[in-house]
Amino acid sequence: MSTSTNASTDLLTFRGSSLEVRDLTMAFGDIKVLRGVSLSIAPGTTTCIIGPSGSGKSTLLRGINRLHEPASGDVLLDGESALKVKPDVLRSRIGMVFQHFNLFPDHTALENVALALRSVKGMSKAEAKERASRRLAEVGLAERADHRPRDLSGGQQQRVAIARALAMEPEVMLFDEATSALDPELVKGVLTLMAGLCERGMTMAVVTHEMGFARRVADQVVFMDEGEVVEAGKPADLFDNPQSERLQRFLSEVL
Ligand code: ADP
Ligand code: MG
Repeated sequence: MSTSTNASTDLLTFRGSSLEVRDLTMAFGDIKVLRGVSLSIAPGTTTCIIGPSGSGKSTLLRGINRLHEPASGDVLLDGESALKVKPDVLRSRIGMVFQHFNLFPDHTALENVALALRSVKGMSKAEAKERASRRLAEVGLAERADHRPRDLSGGQQQRVAIARALAMEPEVMLFDEATSALDPELVKGVLTLMAGLCERGMTMAVVTHEMGFARRVADQVVFMDEGEVVEAGKPADLFDNPQSERLQRFLSEVL
């Protein structure tokens, strides 16, 4: 990824890559969980993935960065098959943020961001620390660099997790219900941070129950049910004019 610095704000701008999922199927043992999912995300755009619990949203994200290997189909990152990229390299090119932040409890915020820079990117201690500090400052946590996760709010912990993913300079970011575990008053700040990444050019796939965010920020919304994409399109089309009975029912339950 090429990055450049906007001098007035000192915020990175991103050059996100395209992401294409082609006829992906995934299974747990004999149980087919994804039944041929295809979707296409243009560089620098945000796709929100919505759907009932158990519809395969998390499995899809885990297939994209190969935390779980697909049974068939392909994922193209910047036009190149992700299945041919070594998994640890792939996971530095595709950042992922989870519902339960997954920070190392015994490390400070700064160390949490710096660790993978040392182990995956092979940076020196000083280099990793310098880059980690900048990423923490970008998510508004410069003052909290020396705090351990337990001394941070849920929202702050999630910002650390986002800073940690961004520090790898990914081409795509995947979010799996990143705000679902947060107290209501902390949700907005994290969503605002995510919307800012999108404005700065990141390519994002966001699994979310925040329908307001999906409507406001998404370039595309994908509705999944029972392991397949049922409808995909512009937020206004999906939310205001759902075509399928399944999406109509889902929206009547969540809106
Ligand atoms: P969602 O994120 O949309 O709630 P998931 O992708 O987590 O859905 O799950 C899709 C289906 O796969 C569900 O039926 C779930 O029970 C099943 N599943 C998810 N993870 C596993 C697993 N590790 N082992 C077996 N089944 C799983
Ligand atoms: Mg899930």
